[in-house]
Amino acid sequence: MLLPSTIAVDGPAGSGKSAVSFAVAKRIGYLFVDTGAFYRAVTLLALEENIDVHNAEAVTTLARRAQLDMTPDLAADGRQYTLLADGRDITLDIHAPQVDANVSAVAANPGVRAALLDAQRSIAARGNVIMAGRDIATVVLPDADIKIYIDASLDQRAERRYQQRLKNGEPADLDEIREGLRKRDETDSQRDVAPLLRTPDAVYLDTSDLTLEQAIDSFYQTLKR
Ligand code: C5P
Repeated sequence: MLLPSTIAVDGPAGSGKSAVSFAVAKRIGYLFVDTGAFYRAVTLLALEENIDVHNAEAVTTLARRAQLDMTPDLAADGRQYTLLADGRDITLDIHAPQVDANVSAVAANPGVRAALLDAQRSIAARGNVIMAGRDIATVVLPDADIKIYIDASLDQRAERRYQQRLKNGEPADLDEIREGLRKRDETDSQRDVAPLLRTPDAVYLDTSDLTLEQAIDSFYQTLKR
């Protein structure tokens, strides 16, 4: 059976798009590319270098300069890929709450988006790829073989993040997590450049009432249609 070669996945934070895309990619032997990781990497580097995330010019320069590399290398810590910045492994650091709180501002910067676009397209051009993000169907891969929009209710998404943090032994406050996700949804969907959009040609997958296994299966069945 011939599966679609380029698979574009979009959806809001915590919808399960990374976990589901990663699992399906593993099952069918595809590369999983989490584009959010690139925006997170630029955010982390800005915070580390004390660059104001709202300083568009400085953050754009940083995004152009940063040597970011995503590899399919896994480790025992549950990672879905390894992300290197100038050779340094930043895979775990990019999920820090400080990065969560600042990444939408960085991602709304057109200069940053332009700096990251070519790299994302050239990875996808190799084919057999599941690429996940916010603007994959609309901007990065408008000609993808299949587009899937993964969604879930805000409450469900917050609960999942909360459980994930508890599991990792990290401090967690459900209301704070829900508010953080709500704010990020708002900024990501209302920004001028490449906002999160559900396109009419995308298959809609609502994972609110699905277990991870069910969501993975549903995604996989969509590819076989
Ligand atoms: O998917 P994740 O939650 O890790 O993405 C982090 C942030 O990166 C998003 O909230 C969004 O602001 C930005 N992003 C984006 N375009 C993408 C992927 C992520 O703007 N394709």
